[in-house]
Amino acid sequence: MPNVTSSDYWEAQDEALIRVIQPVVISAATKAARLAFDDLVLQFGAELGVSWDVVNEAAKAWAKDYTFDLVKGINDTSQAFLQDEIAKWIESGEPLDALLDALAPMWGEVRAEMIGVSEATRIFHFGNVAAWEESGVVDRYTFRSVRDDLVCPICEPDDGQEFPLDDTEHAPSRHTRCRCYSTPVLARKAILRMARNLFIAPISV
Ligand SMILES: [Zn+2]
Ligand SMILES: [Zn+2]
Repeated sequence: MPNVTSSDYWEAQDEALIRVIQPVVISAATKAARLAFDDLVLQFGAELGVSWDVVNEAAKAWAKDYTFDLVKGINDTSQAFLQDEIAKWIESGEPLDALLDALAPMWGEVRAEMIGVSEATRIFHFGNVAAWEESGVVDRYTFRSVRDDLVCPICEPDDGQEFPLDDTEHAPSRHTRCRCYSTPVLARKAILRMARNLFIAPISV
């Protein structure tokens, strides 16, 4: 019987958990980056001077350093369950609520919401930032709350504010059960370029 009150036991558990969850985080972050990248390609097409490989590497590098604060100290069964459910959710492309519903029977609604919302939000924000940063056409993100009565006093005043891509202080999720998210802000030069393209016929070379 392991001594569950010793900190060594929990440290070993945490390491095991990180080994299990890390591939899932890497795949979620790169998937988020892929979606953000595809969005930018739709808007800028061949003008986007960056390849998917570069974005992919950036997302992976971020995911490797991911700290997993909120999933520390959960047991083996829960680890496997979390890994399965997050993987299924990523594949399905369903909204976050679907993930939370799936996690609820195992952890109870409160804990599922706490882990699911915060982890998924963080992974998506940083996956997106990886794509936005490499794109060269996005230089900030807009912090957005869901604008309902439950938005907290930390997040509410920052709704709609813009922050540099490397600003982690305001990056969602800001705290446990924060439901805020981020959207890209196009760099001024990218907007000017789009405007030019609308009015001037492209010159073929
Ligand atoms: Zn908040
Ligand atoms: Zn929030």
